[in-house]
Amino acid sequence: MQKPPRPPSSPIAAARKVALARAKRRKPSGTFVVMLGTGMPRPDPQCFGPATAVVHDGRVFLFDAGAGVMRRMAAAGLSIRGPEAVFITHLHSDHTLGYPDLILTTWVMGRRSPLQAYGPVGLKKMTKHILAAWDEDIHVRIEGLEHQTKTGYKVAVHEFDVSDASGGVVYEKDGVRITAIPVIHGCWKQAYGFRIDTPDRSIVISGDTVPTNTILEASRGVDVLVHEVYPASQVAPEIRIGGKKWPSYMREFHTSDIELGLLAAEAKPKLLVLHHIVRQIEDDDELLESIRDAGFEGEVVVAKDLDRF
Ligand SMILES: [Zn+2]
Ligand SMILES: [Zn+2]
Repeated sequence: MQKPPRPPSSPIAAARKVALARAKRRKPSGTFVVMLGTGMPRPDPQCFGPATAVVHDGRVFLFDAGAGVMRRMAAAGLSIRGPEAVFITHLHSDHTLGYPDLILTTWVMGRRSPLQAYGPVGLKKMTKHILAAWDEDIHVRIEGLEHQTKTGYKVAVHEFDVSDASGGVVYEKDGVRITAIPVIHGCWKQAYGFRIDTPDRSIVISGDTVPTNTILEASRGVDVLVHEVYPASQVAPEIRIGGKKWPSYMREFHTSDIELGLLAAEAKPKLLVLHHIVRQIEDDDELLESIRDAGFEGEVVVAKDLDRF
């Protein structure tokens, strides 16, 4: 009997296949984006909390530490002793729930030197409280029979406050430059995206933000723009306490597919990667359609956890 014909793959699914295949052909020593967690606050078993790694010549730079980040680092084959540095976009819980995991698990797995953590003002306080919360654990692991090092649980926190629209370089070492880009995320006093430049690639990660000129300028012609998004058509007042304000919340904190299409049409990244998609109904084609309607003609993919670009 003849098999029924397979449904044609949607344009956006096909674009993802092409982008993944291209990443496979890249030199292992080059620069990759690894989507560790593509989710949003709602716990979705397929999409872990927001976390993206940029790997250059084996060196790992981590951007945000959402829930499950260490499991995803292990799944991606990245060192469970931690990254060269972690960069936090803002202190919303969905982006930092994995931060204690990152601090403590990398120590238990053998990290000996302080974790290098970069982020907005408030990260020092958060780190201090995390270490205080796990104080008993740290004590038992050092004094007990595990004989963990007295140094590896420590964190060197580098807070920054960048207000310059063109961003500020917060890290530069051996060919890797990381620039913090101020963004607008509702009433957060500080929220950032990051631009990563290596000898072979340029990457921008938007963080959580409304569409901003700062991200637009930083991502002109970049190799990869990883941006958050929500489908404008799915936003309506919700039946719950505070639900009436949901559309205003989305408008003041996040970027719609139409807005992202306009931004990308001007910035012209070589590849636009969508993640942290706040939506009720999964419809990737709808996202693509809105982005195209707004004028972006380039490559667009909806990332899944553990994708490499
Ligand atoms: Zn978020
Ligand atoms: Zn946020």
